[in-house]
Amino acid sequence: MMPENRCSSCGVVMKRKGAAVFKCPVCGEGTIGRCAQCRDQSVPYRCEACGFEGP
Ligand SMILES: [Zn+2]
Ligand SMILES: [Zn+2]
Repeated sequence: MMPENRCSSCGVVMKRKGAAVFKCPVCGEGTIGRCAQCRDQSVPYRCEACGFEGP
């Protein structure tokens, strides 16, 4: 299963505009996505690889 660029917080499929995708700062393996809305509202995200939660 190929992971789409989904927001890690709300699960929406992200459009490129305003969205951010980055590797987990802790384990460097999990890919974390944040849609524009969750970025704007500072919704916490969770790394699926190591369970790290952060803003
Ligand atoms: Zn979101
Ligand atoms: Zn991680």
